[in-house]
Amino acid sequence: MNMFGKTTKLLVASALLAGLSTASMAAEKVYKWKLATTWGPTLSPFIDAPTKMAEMVEKMSDGRLQIRVDASNKHKSAFGILDMVKGGQYDMGHSASYYWKGKDINTMPFSTMPFGLTTPEQYAWFYHGGGMELMKKTYAKHKVLSFPGGSSGNQMGGWFRKEINTVDDLKGLKMRIPGFAGEVMAKLGLTVTNIAPGELYTSLERGTIDALEWVGPGMDINMGFHKVAPYYYTGWHEPGLDLQFLVNERAFNKLPKDLQEILVTAMRVSAYDMYIQNYHMSAEAWSKMISEYPNIKIKTFPKEVMDALKQTNKELRAEIVKGQPLLKEILDSQEAYQKKARKWTEMSDYLYLKDNL
Ligand code: CA
Repeated sequence: MNMFGKTTKLLVASALLAGLSTASMAAEKVYKWKLATTWGPTLSPFIDAPTKMAEMVEKMSDGRLQIRVDASNKHKSAFGILDMVKGGQYDMGHSASYYWKGKDINTMPFSTMPFGLTTPEQYAWFYHGGGMELMKKTYAKHKVLSFPGGSSGNQMGGWFRKEINTVDDLKGLKMRIPGFAGEVMAKLGLTVTNIAPGELYTSLERGTIDALEWVGPGMDINMGFHKVAPYYYTGWHEPGLDLQFLVNERAFNKLPKDLQEILVTAMRVSAYDMYIQNYHMSAEAWSKMISEYPNIKIKTFPKEVMDALKQTNKELRAEIVKGQPLLKEILDSQEAYQKKARKWTEMSDYLYLKDNL
């Protein structure tokens, strides 16, 4: 072997070593993040979405990205998630977009809208119908990124102490109902409030509120609402509530590309897992409801009430977009998508179910 060959080999060897050491240094850097949720530590399946996401991220990144999940009992700010992620106290959050309607009305439709998109329609809109682009545009001014965080599916209309036969029966009731549905109810004469999940049962039991909507049988039965308010109405107001993951934009941009991809993938998978977990929980609870909780009275709002809800929803929808071009753009996009997708929903699910119940 001549000198020339030896030198080349040495150069190649040292370049390889240099390359390897840079790669191993990058591989060794560990990112430790914190995530704040609106939910309490045992509130399945909502709390499971961020918890499973964090577990997946840690495994897939071989420990290079570790995310500590803080439930609401730890940070004591169930409705402060957006502010905490925006301010950088937390790198991530898990909550619901309509909780920020008072800070920024444009965030509201990314959760759910009364008489709006069902879960499959909304996910199709998010990932294929322009929804993600509009969500990015909306949250850019808050310097956070928002991702779908798991859907509740179609929700139940809520628990009432008394039967609702007319629009007048609604007037004067104090009800916990968030989002745009709360605005609709307020216009119909109810006093509307939002209460942190951990205080819902006590509020209903003590009469601080007369009625509430929460999610569906899988989650509601565990809360015990049926013990104090036996009338359980079917839904109109949250046909596909989507939760959300929030990520501080600067923190996200500091991650290497592979960890960004791992994070985005884990959020998407855990969101899907939460949707089916909740579906399963409701299926189980519903199947036991009639035999185990005979005092629960399942009701659908009478036509008079549904017509009033629809009409009020329409009037308020026209009012809120005045002077709000981005909100109008988002709602127009959702409604155009719903019009298109609903024909297929009817052809596929509705016509199939109609003859097979
Ligand atoms: Ca709800």
